[in-house]
Amino acid sequence: MAKITLRAVRKSFGESEAVRGVDLTINDREFMVFVGPSGCGKSTLLRLVAGLETPSDGAILIDGEDATNKPPARRGLSMVFQSYALYPHMTVRGNIAFPLKMAREEKSAIDEKVKNAARILNLTDCLQRKPRQLSGGQRQRVAIGRAIVREPKAFLFDEPLSNLDAALRVNMRMELGELHRQLKATMIYVTHDQVEAMTMADRIAVLNGGLIEQTGTPRELYRSPANVFVAGFIGSPGMNFITGDEARKDNAKTIGVRPEHFAVSKENGRWRGEVGAVEHLGADTFMHIRAENAGQLTARVGGDDSFASGDKVFLTPQPGRLYRFGDDGKTITE
Ligand code: ATP
Repeated sequence: MAKITLRAVRKSFGESEAVRGVDLTINDREFMVFVGPSGCGKSTLLRLVAGLETPSDGAILIDGEDATNKPPARRGLSMVFQSYALYPHMTVRGNIAFPLKMAREEKSAIDEKVKNAARILNLTDCLQRKPRQLSGGQRQRVAIGRAIVREPKAFLFDEPLSNLDAALRVNMRMELGELHRQLKATMIYVTHDQVEAMTMADRIAVLNGGLIEQTGTPRELYRSPANVFVAGFIGSPGMNFITGDEARKDNAKTIGVRPEHFAVSKENGRWRGEVGAVEHLGADTFMHIRAENAGQLTARVGGDDSFASGDKVFLTPQPGRLYRFGDDGKTITE
């Protein structure tokens, strides 16, 4: 198993710097998720850990040992890609066994490891099939199987679920969580999807512009975002931000309230507004409200609450649920 440490890691491609100084420790057996918008450097960071890129500066340590210039094959890590990268002419068994054959392991040992991986991944009945005879989710599981048999110190996942449809993604999220519990392995997982990050991670690193904005458990990031960026990125629908006079009343440059943290009243409250679009999701309803002095706001109410487009409503942040941000975008805590 592995503890992975990044020390002041930088990576430039020509003029542009994709990773601009990252310090981070991924603990043994931790499920760490790198999340951030497109181009924030999360894949580059993962590829640096894998050894597929070399840092321009800084160091990468695996279990305390300097791995900065070690080739990928000698790092003891397994990477699973979004594209699966399966061999179409080989069976599932052949695909999973491939890295072991390359390492010239004995046939009996290979058979045992493939059997074990297939059992963990629910692929036992598919071992004789070719990739084209599998569903997207099964293909992804074969790719993971190929990583498992190598018994790596850590698994690296680069957006492994983004080719799957929504329902399958939810399933695979749970399966990966279960896999993590079974294998007790260190895992680093890259995604742009904050829901994936929130549901799977022990800890999340939120990246933006090549830097880590904040690292913490899903709950820490949701409850105590360090700045406007994290506050807006974590949570769906996103936090409402209000600037100008209304923020100045709270001695802030910007104030923020999550949609689920409004008290909505037809009688009174801090911001008066008119309900525009109403989205009924079943258990929840999202209301889009044009508020005087506060602009466009989104409120999340219960599915049985009766509000309709055109209603006049008042919105008030629930006690202790208003976030304040300073001129530098950082959360004001005092
Ligand atoms: P996405 O979710 O879109 O994959 P990302 O957060 O994973 O984005 P990276 O792929 O790490 O982002 O890219 C970070 C920045 O580095 C981008 O501006 C990208 O264009 C640049 N970049 C990445 N790889 C290379 C490369 N091989 N050569 C030049 N520029 C690159």
